[in-house]
Amino acid sequence: MVNKELFSKALDSTDEGVLIASVSQRRGGEIVYVNRAFERMFECSSKKLIGKGLTFLRRLSREKCIGDAVRRAIQLGKSVHLMVELMTRRGNSFCSRLCISPICDSGGCVSHLILVSHDVSELQAYRRQVEKQNQFLAEQNIELEALATHDPLTGVYNRRYFDAEFKRALAVHQRQQMPLSLAFFDVDYFKDYNDYYGHAAGDRVLVSVAAIIQSHFFRAGDVVARYGGEEFVVLSSAEGDKTEFHSHIERVRKDVEALAMCHMKSQAAPVVTISAGIYCDVPNGSSELGAIVEAADRNMYHAKAGGRNQVSCG
Ligand code: GH3
Ligand code: MG
Ligand code: MG
Repeated sequence: MVNKELFSKALDSTDEGVLIASVSQRRGGEIVYVNRAFERMFECSSKKLIGKGLTFLRRLSREKCIGDAVRRAIQLGKSVHLMVELMTRRGNSFCSRLCISPICDSGGCVSHLILVSHDVSELQAYRRQVEKQNQFLAEQNIELEALATHDPLTGVYNRRYFDAEFKRALAVHQRQQMPLSLAFFDVDYFKDYNDYYGHAAGDRVLVSVAAIIQSHFFRAGDVVARYGGEEFVVLSSAEGDKTEFHSHIERVRKDVEALAMCHMKSQAAPVVTISAGIYCDVPNGSSELGAIVEAADRNMYHAKAGGRNQVSCG
């Protein structure tokens, strides 16, 4: 048989704060017992707590939920659990997992309440730290993803991303028998530009050209990428008509020319210009990536051979 002394020792040995209050309809009830952990947690001696009315429990927190939980525990006749920020007598706050349970007399009426408080501040702090770390990792992942898929100089997609997207788009367009549009751009006489104006000026030209191309292709399914060196590529799933696509690319060419970036060494124009080769067709079941790139490349060759600063669709 467990005696009263053992019960008291056991309750004083636990780290959970325990409070017992009587419940009386007439007198409202009062605190009849608190253990040592409860005294420590709330920075208040049992002498100051015992005898206080049940309504005192509401003062344990700035939140209203304790009063509600007490009412529910009495009404439902079963334990109510809640996570709440509690206040000590000295005004310090801590996060607690509270369990308020009714104790019934032999007649089945609620005669007492037992409130058990588990300080979860450390757990909360740890959770916040983990959340912060997760947030940091998520941000790092976004950055890594951007680094892995974008060209650092111009900010458009890189060749790796383009290759993967092209493969994916080709499979979809083959299956759905929809036209796929591709355009390759190449800066004219760019080696001469670098030689004359310097590599840094050449880099600025690449940034400007990429921005112009990007400004023309922003719809879902459009991919603008740096294919290599001074070559860019556009993949468009939205554009189906060859004549329209040609006009669209022609507008890009004109916009680059209109930037009027001086190029004294170009034999095509006194300013920086681009040539483009396009492909726009419904890929058949056996069309391969390489063959489509070659087709666009051949057209690029025609544009170059035809005097540069032009768009060729073959
Ligand atoms: P074409 O009109 O036939 O295209 O002649 P081109 O001089 O543009 O062609 P070529 O392939 O001979 O030269 C390409 C140049 O692009 C050579 C290389 O120095 C330059 N280039 C490649 N990547 C970069 C880069 O990241 N920055 C700069 N500034 N230049 C680059
Ligand atoms: Mg080139
Ligand atoms: Mg070139």
